[in-house]
Amino acid sequence: MDTIVALATPPGRSAIGVIRLSGDQAFSYLQTIVEDDRQSQDVAHATLRKLKNPESGLSIDQALVTFFQAPHSFTGEDIVEISCHGSPIILRQLIDVLLKLGARLAGPGEFTLRALGSGKINLSQAEAIRDVINAQTDAAAQQALRQLSGELSNRLQPLKDQLLDVIVVLESAVEFVEDDLPQVQRDRVKATLNNLIAEVAAMASSFASGHLLRDGFKVTLVGRPNTGKSSLFNSLLRTDRAIVTDIPGTTRDTLSEVINIGGLPVLLTDTAGVRDSTNRVEGIGVERTKRAMAEADLLLVVVDGTADLTADDLDFLRLTADQKRVIAVNKSDLPTFRSYLKIEFDNQSKVVEVSAKEGFGLDTLRDAIVEPFISTLGNDTGLLITDARHHDLLVRAQGELDSALQSMERSESEELVLVGLHNALRYLGEITGETTAEDVLSRIFSTFCIGK
Ligand code: GDP
Repeated sequence: MDTIVALATPPGRSAIGVIRLSGDQAFSYLQTIVEDDRQSQDVAHATLRKLKNPESGLSIDQALVTFFQAPHSFTGEDIVEISCHGSPIILRQLIDVLLKLGARLAGPGEFTLRALGSGKINLSQAEAIRDVINAQTDAAAQQALRQLSGELSNRLQPLKDQLLDVIVVLESAVEFVEDDLPQVQRDRVKATLNNLIAEVAAMASSFASGHLLRDGFKVTLVGRPNTGKSSLFNSLLRTDRAIVTDIPGTTRDTLSEVINIGGLPVLLTDTAGVRDSTNRVEGIGVERTKRAMAEADLLLVVVDGTADLTADDLDFLRLTADQKRVIAVNKSDLPTFRSYLKIEFDNQSKVVEVSAKEGFGLDTLRDAIVEPFISTLGNDTGLLITDARHHDLLVRAQGELDSALQSMERSESEELVLVGLHNALRYLGEITGETTAEDVLSRIFSTFCIGK
C-alpha cells in the first residue's frame, strides 16, 4: 500500500498538532526526517525527536513521535504519528516534506478505510468512528461507542447464523427433491423465521429513538420583528450551546447553532436576520423564512407580552397553527407585561412566559420544546440503531423475511423461499460490510473528514 499522510487534528493554532502517516514507507520517511542519528527502533514508546527538512537540513520542529509497527496498528499497516507544536506553519512544512518524499495526501476517511480493508474493524464500526467524532451529545457519543465496540455486529451475528441454518435446511431439501421437507422441520423453520422477524423488527424500530439521539431535531424561532427572537436565541445558546457548532448544510441567511436540551441535540435557527425590513407583513412571506419554517420539526413563535398582538403576530400564529409549535410570550420582566397564558391560541400549543433578557422561564421553555419528542425516546437503554443506512437495511431484511415466511405458509417451493432468505442475509451482511458494494463504500467514506 502506498503511504498516506494527513493532519489528524483540526487546522488552526493549538498546543499540539498531530500528523499521521500510514503505509509501507511510513517508518523510512520518519527516519529521513529525524535530525539525530539515533536509529530508533524503539517501537513500543513515544520518543521526542528533532525533525528536519532533509533537503535543506533546516530544523522543522521538536516532536513526540510514535511508531506502530504493522500489523499492530489502527490500519494494520506501519503507522507513524507525529505530535508537533500546533503551528499551522510547522504542520504545513512537515506535510510538504513528507509529500516530497513520496507520501500521498489521504482522502476522507482513508485511514479508517484501510482499517476496514485489513479486517481490523467492520463497516458498522468504521461508521461508529465517524459518529463518535461527530456526536453532539453525551448520549449520542455513548451509542456510537457501543457500536464501535462491536455491539451491533455481535447482536447481528446470531441472527445471521440462525438465518444461515434455515438456508442450509432448505437448500438441502432442494438438493434432494424426492424427500419433501418433513412437517416437523417446516414448523421449525417457520418458528425460526418468526423469531428472526421479531428481532429484526425490534432493532429497526429502535431507529426512532436512535435517530433522535444522534441527529436531534430542528427548532426555528419565528415572529414579527422586535418580539425578542434574537435575544431568546442568544439566551438559549448562552447556557446550552453544544460544543459542536459546525453544522453541515446550514446557510448563512439564517443563524443556526446546535444546543443540547435534555440530552438531545437541537438545531436552533433564528430567522430574525432574514426578515424583510421594508415591509412588516411581508416579512412573513420571505422565501427563506418560509423554508426555515417548513424544515423545522418545531416552531418557537415569539410574541411580545408588553404589546397587543398585532396583525403580524396573528399572521404568524395563523401560519404556524398546523405545525408543532411552542408560543413564547417574551419580556415578562417588564412592568407592562400582560399574560397571554389565558388566551387560547389553540388547544395544542404550549404557551410559555419568558424573559430573554433576564432568563426567566427558560427552563419551562426548554421542557416545552423537548416534550413532544421525548415520548419517542422511550426508556430503552439498550443499543439503538442510529444510522439511516442500517435502518433501511433492517427494514429490507424484515420485508424479505416476511415474504419468505408467507411463501412457506402458502407451501410454495423452497426455491422461492430461498430467494427471499438469501436477500435478507445479504442485507444484514451489508450492515457490517461483508456484502457491501464498492460504490456504497465510497459513498459512506465520503462522509468522513480527512485524517480519520
Ligand atoms: P427580534 O427582532 O425579534 O430578533 O428582537 P430582538 O431580540 O432584536 O429584540 C428587540 C428588542 O427587544 C431589543 O431592544 C431587545 O433588547 C428587547 N428585548 C428582547 N427580549 C427582551 C426581554 O425579555 N425583556 C426586555 N425588557 N427587553 C427585551
